[in-house]
Formats: sequence, C-alpha cells, structure tokens
Amino acid sequence: MNPVPQHSILALVDLREGEVLSSTADAVALALSLAAGGEKPLLGVLGKDPQAAAREAARLYGLPAAAVSGPALGGAAGRTRALALARLARQCGARWVCLPGTPLFADVAPGLAVYAGGCCIPAVEGVEAGESGPAFTRSAAGGKYVVRVEAKAFPAVLTASAGSFAPPPENTGEAGEVIPIDWGDRPADARSLGMRQRTVSAPGLSLARVVVAVGRGMGAAENLEQARRLASLFSESALAGSRPACDMGWLPHSRQVGVTGQTVAPALYFACGISGAFQHVAGMRGSRFVVAVNRDKNAPIFRVADVGVVEDALSFLPLFCEVCEERK
Ligand SMILES: Cc1cc2nc3c(=O)[nH]c(=O)nc-3n(C[C@H](O)[C@H](O)[C@H](O)COP(=O)(O)OP(=O)(O)OC[C@H]3O[C@@H](n4cnc5c(N)ncnc54)[C@H](O)[C@@H]3O)c2cc1C
Repeated sequence: MNPVPQHSILALVDLREGEVLSSTADAVALALSLAAGGEKPLLGVLGKDPQAAAREAARLYGLPAAAVSGPALGGAAGRTRALALARLARQCGARWVCLPGTPLFADVAPGLAVYAGGCCIPAVEGVEAGESGPAFTRSAAGGKYVVRVEAKAFPAVLTASAGSFAPPPENTGEAGEVIPIDWGDRPADARSLGMRQRTVSAPGLSLARVVVAVGRGMGAAENLEQARRLASLFSESALAGSRPACDMGWLPHSRQVGVTGQTVAPALYFACGISGAFQHVAGMRGSRFVVAVNRDKNAPIFRVADVGVVEDALSFLPLFCEVCEERK
C-alpha cells in the first residue's frame, strides 16, 4: 500500500468521463475556508484510472491529490464510492471531508459518514466560528430559516451548497503532488449503468432574446398569466423564474435562473417581483438591458436594472401589456 500523507481536510474532485467538473470548486472552496495556518487540503480523485484527472486537479488548485484507482471505481455507484472514500479519510487522518453539492455526492455523503464513523452535514452555505471549532450554516424549511450546526463526531462529511462559496483563487504556482493509491480489485456491490444528459432543459431559455422572469412577488401561479401575456408580445421570448417561483411549482425547475439554475444573456430581461438576490443575479447579469418591476424601491434588483419600475407588478403588467398591444 502507498503511504498516504496526513491531511486533516479532504476535498473530493467531481469527474465526468475523466474531466474535472466545475462543481469541484465548491468542495475546494469549503475545504480552504476550514484550513488554518496555511494548511493544504488533500484532493481525493476516484476512478478506474484517475491519474490524469488527479494531475489536472492538482494543477488547477495547487493542492496535493490522492488518485484512488480500482476497476470497481469507474462509474461506481454510491456505496462503493462511500467505502473507498471512508478508507481514504481514515488513511489520511481527515477530520473534515468536503464534497461537491451535486446529486451524485448527496448519494455518497450519508453512507460515507456512517462507514467513516463520523457525522454528515449536507448543503453547507457558510462557515463561521463556533463554540468548539467551525460552525456551519445551512438553509432549512425551503430557505425560511438558517441553521447553525457544529460537528460532534469525526470525520465530518460536508457537502458544499452549489454557488455558496466564492470560487478558489486561480493557482499560478506549482501543481500539487499526485499520490497514487490502489483500491485493489474489490468487487463493486452495485453497478452504475451510466449517466445520461437530460434533454429537456428548457432549450428556449438560453436562446431567447427576451426573458420575462417572475419571482415570489407575483404572489400566485395564476398571476403568471400577465407575465405570459408580456412574453407573447415578443418573438423569441421565454418565461423564467427565481428559485422560489420554481420551488413553489409555478414553473418547472428547468426555467430557474441563477447559480443553481440556468445562465441567460438575452437582449432584454424583464424581472417581475424578483428581489435581486446575488444567487439570482449571477444567472442574468449578462443580459443587455434589464427592466425590473418591484414595489420596494430598495430592492437590490434595481442595482442591476437599466429601467426600474417601483410599482405593484400585478397592476403594472396588465396596463403595460395593454399599451404595448395597442402600439403593436
Ligand atoms: C445556495 C443557494 C443557491 C440559490 N440559487 C438560486 C438560483 O439559482 N436562483 C434564484 O433565483 N435564487 C436562488 N437562491 C435563492 C436566493 O437567495 C433568493 O432567496 C431568491 O432569488 C429570492 O427569490 P425572489 O426574488 O423571487 O423572492 P423574494 O426574495 O421573496 O423577493 C420577492 C420580491 O418581490 C417584491 N414584491 C412583492 N410583491 C410584489 C408585487 N405585488 N409587485 C412587485 N414586487 C413585489 C418584493 O419587494 C421582493 O423584492 C439560492 C439560494 C441559495 C442559498
């Protein structure tokens, strides 16, 4: 067995077909926010033959990378990955294991915590000083509450909520060392049959020249009729929503704009009843012209708007549509 260097923080690299995915940045950023006194987290890269990906990750982040290889780890299902990661966490003496907040790692995290004898804190959005070490913040009840959690059993398995952490700085120094680790030819007890890209991810949204986006301020699903009416005035237009608008089922999640949704850059972006949280703005800041309708004159959306309408969207939209229809 290769000697595994001791690291108290392990960050997992997300791979697809040997490519390092951008979701890795969330896990690395969370790991770096836990590192004290210049300590370097160890990257964990799992696969049938993950050396090249480990070299790439070590170069991208300037951190050492453990490349854990074994036939069973190519496209492995959650339990096999969890077992391999628990072993790696034990070998390197990890106290914190940071995973990207993707569905794949959401599948791995609880099992990994059990096999490693630690605890699991999913969807971490921030790190603060706690009573006996770091405290982690996460949303509860659909974002209505913020919960602070401290780990009491170690290693603590954390998943980083997508988009919650500023991306790690670009590495301009040397690449980290790659440490090969053999997982052997242990059989996988479940086999992944592969992954398919979804084909229904709102193709119209990214191509639309005009996006009419609705937020919680629209009040109810039936009020979206006025937004649809506005969108229908333009060719190549599409309806989109903030996360709450999609979470409430007013629109499918494929229509969500923001860090955890789609990124759009239309010629015209119409934001109706959207506050302008940075997670939403991140997905629309490339829009060429932004019109925002919000009844709160201090709403942050006005900071990115070219035209701001301080008005009740439910009264404004019908009047505006009427005028546009007359002029058309
Ligand atoms: C990790 C993470 C990822 C996230 N990803 C996303 C994402 O991808 N996309 C996203 O959108 N959000 C995302 N969020 C949620 C984000 O932080 C905000 O909570 C969300 O964008 C707020 O949505 P909203 O503006 O529709 O609702 P609210 O914040 O509730 O704002 C509603 C707005 O409507 C206004 N309003 C109310 N009534 C009216 C009316 N009658 N007429 C006009 N205006 C009215 C109010 O003044 C208010 O400004 C994420 C959050 C986290 C923590």
